[in-house]
Amino acid sequence: MKDSNFLNENNARHMWHPMGHPGAMQAHPPRIISSAQGSTITDMSGKTVVDGVGGLWCVNVGYSCDPIKKAIADQLQVLPYYSAFAGTSNEPAIELSYELREMFAPDGMGRAFFTSGGSDAVETALRLARQYHKVRGEPSRTKFLSLKKGYHGTHFGGASVNGNNRFRINYEPLLPGCFHIPSPYPYRNPFNESDPTNLAQLCAAAMVDEIEFQGANTIAAFIMEPIQGAGGVIVPDATFMGLMRDICTRYGILMIADEVITGFGRTGDWSGSRHWGVQPDMMTMAKGITSGYFPFGACMVSEAVAETFESGDPDLAAIFHGYTYSAHPVGSAAALACIRETQRMKINENAAPRGSQLFNGLLALKDKYDIVGDVRGGHGLMAALELVSDANAKSPAAPSTVSEVFNVAYEAGAMVRIGGNNLLMSPPLIISEGEVATILEALDAGLSAVS
Ligand code: PLP
Repeated sequence: MKDSNFLNENNARHMWHPMGHPGAMQAHPPRIISSAQGSTITDMSGKTVVDGVGGLWCVNVGYSCDPIKKAIADQLQVLPYYSAFAGTSNEPAIELSYELREMFAPDGMGRAFFTSGGSDAVETALRLARQYHKVRGEPSRTKFLSLKKGYHGTHFGGASVNGNNRFRINYEPLLPGCFHIPSPYPYRNPFNESDPTNLAQLCAAAMVDEIEFQGANTIAAFIMEPIQGAGGVIVPDATFMGLMRDICTRYGILMIADEVITGFGRTGDWSGSRHWGVQPDMMTMAKGITSGYFPFGACMVSEAVAETFESGDPDLAAIFHGYTYSAHPVGSAAALACIRETQRMKINENAAPRGSQLFNGLLALKDKYDIVGDVRGGHGLMAALELVSDANAKSPAAPSTVSEVFNVAYEAGAMVRIGGNNLLMSPPLIISEGEVATILEALDAGLSAVS
């Protein structure tokens, strides 16, 4: 193995990282993670910490899931790759489409289109939504609605519906015809409304207002995360997603649930949509589908959408969209094994109690430290601490302060994630009570260092 000087120097010289300044790697070298076990990761120096991030909201089954590793290794021996462009298919992908249909039938899903990750899945959903309206004879429906604070990946379509300007601004102009509705974020919103139920009504009214303004017959789809993740774990009121569903139905707009984070147990249910009792028209999935062991994703569509395509005009309904790695046999085998393990271990059932433990512990930290302006979570294993420099003015804490909390927490035994002035958490769903306690103790140490 190369020494850390070699690795840091070459990382700074030759490797560009997502979501980072390429010139800053020398001054701020990354932590080089060399191995992982269960819910912990170990860096090059040999330090082991609890992974409060689950890789990147994805390692739901933890790092030691031998059935997935074996399924990948076995599939590599049998068929490492073949295209699934119309004309050929492969066994694990077919089996996976069956399993997904079983798993997400309660959400109304009927077919799966496979991708290499979440951004690809979102792009697929947006493109198929436009095409759906062309197939059914309403080609004027081309626009998209989404929520401010939403994150939908980094392709041009996904970035266009993203609701955080830091993922947009340096890449503009983006797709025309994308409009954003206020996020159901009680701590900060344009209505100054802190009651979540009232806020849900106000956001729904803003959605109706935008639809009336644009003209419903120009809008193809509305995309939302059941719980906004990267935007800061924004948990809407329990009524919110249902309100949005009703509006979409009333105006003939497809509802896309972006389940890239919330799918496969993170909220305590198998999907975030099911958590809120809503059936969307499409679902995008990635991350937990393979627990990150292989890059993979899916866009699922409802039976009704599927039937529109399947009985559609041969030219209009042919799907001229897809990726070299769509339905990759190794990815499909990884997903199959992951889903089976996810179900066998019932990891969703651990997400609820461990999520409550984490959320309650974070609330206790809010009582202890003024720097904690808001705590969000309580619906499975996703949570956030929002740090402020002035609790009354809600002014966001300085980036250096957030970094210090993060660094001290790491030294004290837990990896968390920085998202603006938030510290985000999404540990493996197999995490133990003791490991959640370690995350809380580490954050306590970090907050105490800046208080
Ligand atoms: N959608 C959501 C809700 C996400 O959280 C993400 C990634 O974090 C994406 C889409 C994009 O997924 P990927 O990074 O796999 O392209």
